[in-house]
Amino acid sequence: MYKMKVLINGEMIQTDEVVEILNPTTFEVAGVVPALKANDINNAYLAARNAQKNWENLQILERIKILNRWRDLILANKEELATIIMTEVAKAYKDALSEVERTVEYMDYTFQEAMRLEPLALTGAGMGVKNKYGIFERVAKGVGLAISPFNYPINLALSKIAPALVMGNTLVFKPATAGSLIGAKLSELAHQAQIPAGVLNVVTGRGRDIGDDLTNNVQLNFISFTGSTEIGHRILKNASTKDIVLELGGKDPAIVLDDLKLEMYAKEIISGAFSYSGQRCTAIKRVITTDAIADKLVSILKDKIEKLKVGLPMDNADITPLIDQGSADFVLKLIDDAKTKGAQIVTGDKHEKNLIWPTLIDHVTTKMDLAWTEPFGPVLPIIRINDVEEMIKIANASNYGLQASIYCQDLNQALHVAKRIETGTVNINGKSQRGPDSFPFIGIKDSGVGTQGIGETLLSVTRLKGIVINY
Ligand code: NAD
Repeated sequence: MYKMKVLINGEMIQTDEVVEILNPTTFEVAGVVPALKANDINNAYLAARNAQKNWENLQILERIKILNRWRDLILANKEELATIIMTEVAKAYKDALSEVERTVEYMDYTFQEAMRLEPLALTGAGMGVKNKYGIFERVAKGVGLAISPFNYPINLALSKIAPALVMGNTLVFKPATAGSLIGAKLSELAHQAQIPAGVLNVVTGRGRDIGDDLTNNVQLNFISFTGSTEIGHRILKNASTKDIVLELGGKDPAIVLDDLKLEMYAKEIISGAFSYSGQRCTAIKRVITTDAIADKLVSILKDKIEKLKVGLPMDNADITPLIDQGSADFVLKLIDDAKTKGAQIVTGDKHEKNLIWPTLIDHVTTKMDLAWTEPFGPVLPIIRINDVEEMIKIANASNYGLQASIYCQDLNQALHVAKRIETGTVNINGKSQRGPDSFPFIGIKDSGVGTQGIGETLLSVTRLKGIVINY
């Protein structure tokens, strides 16, 4: 069992009261982390404030040198980190390992891009203006709060922490409850890497208990949150004048417009819908297609879904237990609602505790909850619509607007539809996904506020500072 401490103001902190983190596969306690209180959170913010100016005043190369010591330790400990992810959030070991490797790559790319953020140098222009030079450089925003969800506990943590720190901000970081062991382990490695006291402070405890203390602190300048739309909206209300980026939920449609490459479409749809058992913001959460295509597509999808390995994360199964029983019950309720209202199960609809077999449901209609709700589990509805205009209307009727994918060999038609889909990004002939990390990652409507991706995140953790020379 892991007994973790967390880093606050350069010290590894332990408390008598702890939060138990359950292993979703065995339901045993996998480890404990400190249950921090309002006072600890205040200390974390004060430490971040006190450290900020000195950290920002270091040259960027010095900050990168220090952060690279942490990056090297993350890489050197990748197997242990992957084991913790596997234990804590029931992710297949190979996927957990590739998450750690992707994170190291993310850090490398971020540090390179950070060095390319050049200041703007402008000659003043306009009526009556003369002899003015303006220099506008990007400077740190100050003290930030990063809150991450359970599903990519290391990647979504570092994709907030690395850009913020390299640009000279200091941070309070709160991992999800399931995800706290990895958050604590990251803080242990940051301590080992001798990141200066107060630059990174890690706070553990249940979001519902400490969330408001985290988001209301007077020292706080900016917030970066990834998680559900419900909690995101709550944070937005608290944020008042603080700068904020929210990455929230999704209901990404896959719109299949022809049957010319159904094998390839099906492969993309399966990977998009069922990777990490559907617990991804950009998972394909509904297929919209015509009757003529649906019969063939459903039969190919069925064959492929039945080949997915259902089982344990340590056996590298494709489908593993969901994060907790409550999440599994939520998915099962959506399936039942669809069945009651006339949808047809093609395959799946079987479960053992929180392990749900990948489920394909045909003839889902807009009257069923499954057509609109984000299940965050391994279930894929097929919605049959015979008119392209109607398909676009239904795709756009969702409150979410993260991504969509369109499958069609006529590029003109695909582009025509893509331009009218109201999501942050539309993928043509490929699944929706977060990444490559060099691309902007955009959520609109209830899917987010602001844009992520390496370049955009570097901009979001900085502000412009102008100095004007009159000569
Ligand atoms: P969640 O909203 O339950 O929790 C997210 C984080 O918020 C956790 O750290 C949690 O402890 C914290 N939290 C809870 N209550 C809080 C409060 N009152 N104040 C402040 N923080 C609080 O989400 P989850 O279950 O961990 O993750 C799943 C959700 O995240 C899904 O909706 C998914 O779509 C979304 N997600 C979005 C993206 C994206 O990039 N758009 C990526 C991954 C996950």
